[in-house]
Amino acid sequence: MHSHHSHSGDYVAHGVDPLDEMMKQVERMKFHTYCLTEHIPRIESQYLYPEEIEANRENALVQLQTNFNEFMEHAQRIKSNNEINGATKIIIGTEIESCDTKHIEYAKKMLAKNSDVLKFCVGSVHHINGIPLDFDQENWDKCLESFKDRNLKKMLMSYFESQYKMLTVVQPKVVGHFDLFKLLWPQDLKVDPVTGKCTSDSSGIIVTPMTYLEQWEDVKDLVIRNLKYIDSYGGAIEINTSALRKGLEQPYPNSNISELVKKYCHGRFVLSDDAHGIKQVGVCYKKALYYIQDVLKLDKMYYMVEDSTDGSVRFESLPIKEFADDQFWKLLG
Ligand SMILES: [Zn+2]
Ligand SMILES: [Zn+2]
Repeated sequence: MHSHHSHSGDYVAHGVDPLDEMMKQVERMKFHTYCLTEHIPRIESQYLYPEEIEANRENALVQLQTNFNEFMEHAQRIKSNNEINGATKIIIGTEIESCDTKHIEYAKKMLAKNSDVLKFCVGSVHHINGIPLDFDQENWDKCLESFKDRNLKKMLMSYFESQYKMLTVVQPKVVGHFDLFKLLWPQDLKVDPVTGKCTSDSSGIIVTPMTYLEQWEDVKDLVIRNLKYIDSYGGAIEINTSALRKGLEQPYPNSNISELVKKYCHGRFVLSDDAHGIKQVGVCYKKALYYIQDVLKLDKMYYMVEDSTDGSVRFESLPIKEFADDQFWKLLG
């Protein structure tokens, strides 16, 4: 089994358990490959989260840099130790949050500067107009309010434009939680079906994370453009189970996006738990297996391999039967 995206309580403020404890769980669950992908530090104070300011009022930005350097050292220790004592292959990467264009450029520099340690990047978008999308409902609402007339269609287009910017600058091997905006999307949000503006008129319809692509062809076009671009450089889309642990019905991305991944990105999917603590290692993977086999009906899954001679990474595929017969599932019980 694999996970291509994880964090720990040692290096991210909202993480739960120490990285070493999480790694014990990874070994117990007999993961084949586990990727450590702490965030590239944010470089502007406007993007600090309340708990980061709380933890270090004076120097929260410097703290992020210190944490990241410590993460890189710690991850290397774990990796070399695992090569001798462990069965799980560890690959070290980083997640980029794409707060804004400046941050995307900074991430690119960090990747180049630390290329001996960081083998790949999970390319995510966490912000729209500088406002975090998945922090809480209030911030999600602020994202929507930052568009004239609370225009949901414009908000989605802006998200996919930021994603495209990040993709073209960084070319991340793994694209993180492709439709993160669905997490806090209100179920009763009524919008004008044509313009996408929020409305309480009788002409308003409820648009959901399952229906927006059918509703708005121009949003769908951006998704397809992005997927074609990811395909062009050989990137993969992660099926990220953190959406399931947060109570959504499907992992990221929803099946509407996933069907487009099959069509435009050769179905290049990898699996991730996006764990922040011990209990989140391999979390909801059984539900993900159902999604992979019965909903999307994929015939293979991909996973990352690091070349032991030159340290480069590539994807290999696993027929779905082998994926479903992995000893991991039996251990889950
Ligand atoms: Zn993320
Ligand atoms: Zn993450």
